[in-house]
Amino acid sequence: MIIAIDGPAGAGKSTVAKILAKKLGFLYIDTGAMYRALTLKALDANIPVSDCEKISLLADQVNIDLRNNPDGTLNVFLDGFDVSSEIRQPRITRFVSDIAKLKHVRQVMVGLQRQLGKRGNCVLDGRDIGTVVFPAAEFKFYIDAQSSERVKRRFKEMRALGEQIAITDVKSDLANRDKIDSTRECSPLKQAEDAVYVDTTNLNIEEVVEVMLQRIKSNG
Ligand code: C5P
Repeated sequence: MIIAIDGPAGAGKSTVAKILAKKLGFLYIDTGAMYRALTLKALDANIPVSDCEKISLLADQVNIDLRNNPDGTLNVFLDGFDVSSEIRQPRITRFVSDIAKLKHVRQVMVGLQRQLGKRGNCVLDGRDIGTVVFPAAEFKFYIDAQSSERVKRRFKEMRALGEQIAITDVKSDLANRDKIDSTRECSPLKQAEDAVYVDTTNLNIEEVVEVMLQRIKSNG
């Protein structure tokens, strides 16, 4: 069974996806982490994000894997190395959407995500899971929140990771990514017609998970 979760940055998708996967005994697939891993590889190789050809070549060569741990956490491997922390750095966040908008990059990543989806029952989160990667997913959710709330949440998250980032930078980063992600030509962020819309602005994590679980159980 596939549970697809899409929505803009900072809406809480990955947090609820992780909890939901653990509760259901499903695998969790963080598709954003895959685009982040490729971005890390490009930046470390000093390839400008505007160099579409070189980045597309890199996407063909890269080896990205996700490993689920029994405690519900996920480790991200890039060419055999654990890059789970590195891919959360602001330098990656800043450029990831420029790389994720490239058509060939998306083709490669979507192929990989479909392969990973064969490993078993999965919860996937991203921007195009219900629309493109798994359009026939059994359950689809679109997780959203007001942008001021999303900025606050992302700011708290970054501070908790030890990043000395200013809230104004978080705000402009989210606005920039939202814009690129929702206006790109290839599989832009949008709600699938059959996705359940969840506004999490005034809900805590447990409440969001509960709304989703109820929906899954009532249709199961
Ligand atoms: O989910 P996260 O914020 O880590 O994703 C990082 C970036 O990866 C997004 O801003 C978006 O540009 C890209 N992404 C995507 N499609 C997905 C998942 C992420 O384009 N399915």
